[in-house]
Amino acid sequence: MNNLQPTISFIIPAYNEAENVPLVHKELKKTFEDLSYQFEIVFVDDGSSDNTLTVLQDMASKCDKVNYVSFTRNFGKEAALIAGLEHVKGDAVIIMDADLQHPVSLIPDLLKGFEEGYDQVIAKRNRKGDSKLRTALSNFYYFVINKLTDVDMKNGVGDFRLLSRRAINAMLMLKEGNRFSKGLFSWIGYEQKIIHYENVQRENGESKWSFSNLVNYGIDGMISFNLKPLRVCLYMGLFILFISLIYIMAMFVQVFREGVSVPGYFTTISAVLFLGGLHLFSLGIIGEYIGRIYYEAKQRPLYLVQETNVTKRGSE
Ligand code: UDP
Ligand code: MG
Repeated sequence: MNNLQPTISFIIPAYNEAENVPLVHKELKKTFEDLSYQFEIVFVDDGSSDNTLTVLQDMASKCDKVNYVSFTRNFGKEAALIAGLEHVKGDAVIIMDADLQHPVSLIPDLLKGFEEGYDQVIAKRNRKGDSKLRTALSNFYYFVINKLTDVDMKNGVGDFRLLSRRAINAMLMLKEGNRFSKGLFSWIGYEQKIIHYENVQRENGESKWSFSNLVNYGIDGMISFNLKPLRVCLYMGLFILFISLIYIMAMFVQVFREGVSVPGYFTTISAVLFLGGLHLFSLGIIGEYIGRIYYEAKQRPLYLVQETNVTKRGSE
């Protein structure tokens, strides 16, 4: 094999994907038979409770292209991605899911973008096969997030993409603990190319995302990228303060002129409830930010490695 060929590294986060990892490996091997690139795979076993790790060890002993980093527990896909970025050695990286929902057939197109000089080649899926409700919710979410935040996030764009070495290094410079990769990829900038593909349903196992996971992920995405929600609170608070001042003055004039009429139970209670709600809402948003400051202040490692057959890039 020609050593001058550029190496493409794959990062494949795997959480309970024992059935899928050998399939991905097989598909990649087949794809690279006809390509003038070398490749390596870094599987990140995100604390799987099935035998994903043993499968990976077995694969690594038989194929020198297979590397793995195995976490001490489930740290989440974001941690798996950064671990992958820290361990890949290639000239470019392709990030893919282990469940074959990211079609291997797209790899030549991703590489074409790389050859054309793009630093990020992004695969965007349509939402075919997703439920109507999920599609509507995500459309709404992306509408709101793009209005509120300063980075551009596209519906249907996930982590499936190619990054050049420059872009990988840029990602590695972002040291924040609360990672929202979708936003970070957009934040680093660089010339991007988008290619489109048809949505694929998962083959083995189940999606690890529950509805509440998705909601939490959505909130992370909004909060990580802007301080605008805090400002919305401020404006809303000011507006309501202003309205209530006018109301109080009007009532005062009325009492002054006509004396106390029927005690306004309804208006009082509604004002109390409304303002109480607004306060709690604002406090909640402030709490979100403070919670993140708290986590960042701890500077904890993003993941811990139990076992691996690769060294971190730059540490050998
Ligand atoms: N994954 C992970 N850690 C987790 C959850 C998921 O590494 O805590 C991996 C999973 O094995 C898969 C990818 O992230 O390779 C995407 O997960 P999934 O298919 O469950 O998400 P979906 O495709 O439904 O968005
Ligand atoms: Mg999936």
